[in-house]
Amino acid sequence: MAHDYMTLFFDRPSMFGFEKRLKKIAKQWPEPTMDRPDTEDLCWWARTWAASSKNCEATDGCLCAPDGKCQHGYPSWVVYLGWFTMLDEVRQRKEEKKEGINGQ
Ligand SMILES: [Zn+2]
Repeated sequence: MAHDYMTLFFDRPSMFGFEKRLKKIAKQWPEPTMDRPDTEDLCWWARTWAASSKNCEATDGCLCAPDGKCQHGYPSWVVYLGWFTMLDEVRQRKEEKKEGINGQ
């Protein structure tokens, strides 16, 4: 289930082989000025990002789009924790596989 997959991603990124990448992603952004929100909140924002409402917390406590950043340049927690990067990588891997099959 998608929900469980998300929960796992936010709770145990190591299971996705993603811990090193997460540190790299986090380094691109200013230090969060607040504590990490609950996983339940993170999942909600990750699930509803397509609605692109400004309902997600940025790492400084502002509200912003789940796939964006606030006016002060702090990313949404979902971005900060690498969710979209992970989605991109999964998509890319799938496409590479497809190309491999077509190329034969
Ligand atoms: Zn802000």
